[in-house]
Parts: sequence; C-alpha cells; structure tokens
Amino acid sequence: MSIRQVSLQEVKQLARQAYYPLWSAAQSLGRDVKIYCHWTAGRHYQIFSDYHISITGDGSVYVSTDNFSDLKSATFRRNSGSISIALCCALDAVGRNNLGPYPPTEQQHNALAQVVCVLADALNLTIDINRVMTHAEAADNKDGLSPHEPYGPDSTCERWDLWVAREGDPAWSGGDFIRGNANYYRGQGLLKEY
Ligand SMILES: [Zn+2]
Repeated sequence: MSIRQVSLQEVKQLARQAYYPLWSAAQSLGRDVKIYCHWTAGRHYQIFSDYHISITGDGSVYVSTDNFSDLKSATFRRNSGSISIALCCALDAVGRNNLGPYPPTEQQHNALAQVVCVLADALNLTIDINRVMTHAEAADNKDGLSPHEPYGPDSTCERWDLWVAREGDPAWSGGDFIRGNANYYRGQGLLKEY
C-alpha cells in the first residue's frame, strides 16, 4: 500500500488491530512489545517505507502499512514484535553537536511523544527503556538484551539515531527526552480521547 497520513485515532486503532500478533511475536522472544524511535537520515519531508510510522518536519504522521505487525527492516535483529517510528530528519548529521541542515523539529518531537503515548496505551506498555528505545540505545543493547553485537555510539557508531534529541544535548539524553515527553502526555491524560 502507499504511504498515507493518519490521525492519532487511526494510529491507536491500527495498534489495537495488531495487538495479538505483535504480542505473540514478542513473547516468543521472551520479551514485551518494543517501540523503536529512529531518524531517517533524510530530509524533513522525505518518507521511507522502512518504518511503520513516519513523522515529517511539520509533525504530520504517516503510515506505510495498515498492519503494524508487518515485519519491517528498521532495527537490525529486533524487528519481530516491534513497531518502528521514524522522524524524517538528520540528513548529513555528523555528531551530537551538529545534526546537519535537517535536525529534528519541535513539532516532530511533540508528535513523537503523542504517537509513543498512544501506541503504549493501545499495546499496554510501560513507557521505559525496555519498551521504548531509540535506535542508538537499541544498537548498543541498552535494554540488556543481546540480539546482535553493539553497533551504536558506545561501539562502532554505525547507528546513533536520537542519541540526542536536540543539537548539543548531553550524550544519551535522546531516549529519556522522548520517554519523558510521552510519559508527560500519559500522566496528564491529554490523549485520553484517543
Ligand atoms: Zn534507525
């Protein structure tokens, strides 16, 4: 199917529809469902179908499939029982002090927090590092699992998506920033209507 824009209600509905296949795939690996947060290393309005959900520079949300249990090749050796979300950004990012000409926008961070909150609600997930991870954290196995050799910022630095959320932020602060914002929405009940 083609890529299409969706509302938060639709995100929740699609996550509910995929609840059992996602959970059974995750539990066959002895873990809970995971939500992985990426950046595309592209431009703000360039959408790729490697991720279930993409968020463009203005905070609009798109899906590349109506089946969130579809296997995507987003997060090396971690794709079963997971949903991948990508911020469309970070082309030519060179380090945590220089995220290039297309850094993550505030609208993208706000939408990401909302999408993570809605997915976590739909899938009954605690919003913590064991269930909601950046690709940087997943790459270095920060959840204590070892599905692969580390390849993140602490090792080969092959992938470092959202190591920081904003240019110049402290190393490894990206995941806590995203989870903190998502937990803020959850705690405030701001997305209850979804
Ligand atoms: Zn990634």
